[in-house]
Amino acid sequence: MDTIPHFVNGDELMASDVDRNSNFNHSDVFNPSIGASTARVVHASATQVDLCVSMAEQAFEKWKKVSLGKRAAIMFTFKSLVEENIDYLCQLIGQEHGKIAHDALGEVKRGIENIEFACSAPLALKGEHNRQVGSGIDVFTEPHPLGVVAGITPFNFPAMVPLWMFPLAIVCGNCFILKPSEKVPSAAIFLAKLLKQAGLPDGVFNVIHGGRETVDAILHHPAIKAVSFVGSTPVAKSIYKTATANGKRCQALGGAKNHAVIMPDANVNFVSDQIIGAAFGSSGERCMAISVAVCVGKKTADDFVKACKAKIAHLKVGPSSENSNDFGPLITKQHLQAVQAHVEEAERQGASLVVDGRYPKIAGEAKGFFMGATLIDHVNKEMKCYQEEIFGPVLCVLRVDNLKQAVDLINANQYGNGVAIFTTNGFAAQRFKEHIEVGMVGVNVPIPVPVAYHSFGGWKNSLFGDLHAYGPDGVKFYTRRKTITQRWSDNAQETGPAFGFPAND
Ligand code: NAD
Repeated sequence: MDTIPHFVNGDELMASDVDRNSNFNHSDVFNPSIGASTARVVHASATQVDLCVSMAEQAFEKWKKVSLGKRAAIMFTFKSLVEENIDYLCQLIGQEHGKIAHDALGEVKRGIENIEFACSAPLALKGEHNRQVGSGIDVFTEPHPLGVVAGITPFNFPAMVPLWMFPLAIVCGNCFILKPSEKVPSAAIFLAKLLKQAGLPDGVFNVIHGGRETVDAILHHPAIKAVSFVGSTPVAKSIYKTATANGKRCQALGGAKNHAVIMPDANVNFVSDQIIGAAFGSSGERCMAISVAVCVGKKTADDFVKACKAKIAHLKVGPSSENSNDFGPLITKQHLQAVQAHVEEAERQGASLVVDGRYPKIAGEAKGFFMGATLIDHVNKEMKCYQEEIFGPVLCVLRVDNLKQAVDLINANQYGNGVAIFTTNGFAAQRFKEHIEVGMVGVNVPIPVPVAYHSFGGWKNSLFGDLHAYGPDGVKFYTRRKTITQRWSDNAQETGPAFGFPAND
């Protein structure tokens, strides 16, 4: 079975024979459409992390002196190479994640947006300048790179989430160590090779594989200045705590429970189409997936559930290799079982199972980790299926009497990643966006992922840290500011020492 290499200092770094033969420090990579392992990754030890960091530190000394124009030009070539190789990249994503090509294509295109933003980063790195803040004195503030920074990413976007991070960090002058999800390691390695082909000097971008122990080595390495994390909430919380306790800058994006509020005036056909796509696309394994529909009024709920039930009957779940499928399998057998258990528990707690997708019939691929679209009505806020992130193709329906109840329900939820309202009433939408405590809000838009020149981030337990991911916040995250106050005078004279605190009168 193939072992997927790390990528350190511009080259593939194979695991040593000792590592390869050890049963302890590796994991299998699966193709979830066929339910079989296809490769393995050896998890980097603290020694390997240290080696990688020292290579990146050496590269940083040269990279920070490379002109902004050259850095942007390399990223521009990288963007073209990703575009040229987009089909292969989507294939890699499909094989390890299970998403269908049309979905992988969307992911990569949104990732490319972030490379484009990175190409324009010189504009965002201009700094600030004031003349004459005191007599003959000017002040300017300039962004400097941090040094070696790291990114730890989840399984559900093998290309896009890493692309949120490293193109911008690199153009800002940093060297980057990516620790992708050990479940989907190949896309990151392929991107590293394309960056090298684009002319990036060795050591500026590195990829190491691993799980908890590798992450711990990153969090405790004194030379790593900042950590960007995207993943589940418990891990995000713990990474934020450890990284900041170790003096690192950290942004840790966590899990989600995204609600869509459906007002009585919304068009039920439009809304059911929009929410079915957002709930079941990518098998619900998206941090911005809609997992809860909050229907305002009994008739709204009855009409919505009826429309969804009819449309779900036509959805196609199946292997990633078949582009006519609507969505593919879940990531692992354990995750499939956990999602199935949520459905069982919801029924036990008194919810109505309108569509049960637990055991779909899949032609010829019975061993894949498949689950069909599942619709659960009459859910209440105490039920486990509402309280916890399920991360599967399961849509829960809650019924409320008015918009205020919907807003109160959502604001009481521990997560605050994304939310949407469907209405034709501008006043209702305005009130909603004003009072809702969620970081990304859609008005008649089910998946409001901000474009690359805004930033991405939730509130509450969906993000730990101050700055959101990518865009203008990304530039701030990957740079630190130095402010210079300077006087140049052609007739400097003896003034005598001044002991009062300098006031700029
Ligand atoms: P995860 O938290 O299990 O893993 C994320 C990363 O952390 C992986 O690289 C993994 O190797 C590492 N990791 C796992 N357990 C760890 C531990 N105990 N200590 C240190 N590192 C650990 O998440 P996942 O299952 O890969 O991804 C799905 C989760 O990510 C969902 O909760 C989803 O909502 C969330 N997510 C959030 C966003 C966002 O922008 N907020 C985006 C995508 C995914």
